[in-house]
Amino acid sequence: MPAPADYAELVARVAAASTAEGLTLTRRPIDELGLDLLRVDVAAQTADAARVGLFAGVHGDEPAGVAAALEFLEERRWTRHPSVAFSVFPCLNPTGFTLGTRENADGVDINRQYDRDDTPETRTLRAMVKHDAFDAFIDAHEDPDEDGFYVYAFLEDPAWHPSIVQAVAERGPVTGKAEVDETPVEAGLISVGEGRTQAEAFQEYMQGGDWPLPFYLYSRGMRSGMTTETPGQIDLATRVAMQHAARARLLELLAAARRKGA
Ligand SMILES: [Zn+2]
Repeated sequence: MPAPADYAELVARVAAASTAEGLTLTRRPIDELGLDLLRVDVAAQTADAARVGLFAGVHGDEPAGVAAALEFLEERRWTRHPSVAFSVFPCLNPTGFTLGTRENADGVDINRQYDRDDTPETRTLRAMVKHDAFDAFIDAHEDPDEDGFYVYAFLEDPAWHPSIVQAVAERGPVTGKAEVDETPVEAGLISVGEGRTQAEAFQEYMQGGDWPLPFYLYSRGMRSGMTTETPGQIDLATRVAMQHAARARLLELLAAARRKGA
């Protein structure tokens, strides 16, 4: 099915997909907006399952993550990962998605607001994940200016990072650039730079305030995640396939690691 044209269509399709057994849809009203933020919980088929949070659509002009999250539900892709319990947040910026803008309808970049409750969308999301402790999470983004994929990855095992890029490369182009947004990138992986650890880099970024979502989750103890950036300059279907590939590879690696550790 094509990507949803607006938030109303997304809500209707998520609600329809969530009637499947094992799925629970939560709709939480966003103050002042007259719209609900959506969360779909997918029960695992096994005990001591991994808990994975899937987030998309914090920027309204980055539709591939939203479309991929919707397909994940509609195509029952979760059935391929029976040892994972999912919490899916298919669209974090409802008004921006409908308008096709990075910011929400008030002109606010929500993804610089997650350190506080000032913005209705971030206030709602922060409340919705208050009791969560995801073992891994994905924040699905796109870079509208780019023609190749890259990823901000800080997963529990750094060896997973190149494997995820490799899986994406089988579906579409990965950036060959050495720098994106004034940040060094190596083979599609955003680097924190020489001479400091990931944790040190995070501390430094977070002290600056204006947090994107991953910093909020990190501050809550969820320290394994990635932000996927599919390239907005290529066709949408390929970008959606690339988002699926990144997620699927992470889930395979996570499941394998847990089997080994069990
Ligand atoms: Zn974005």
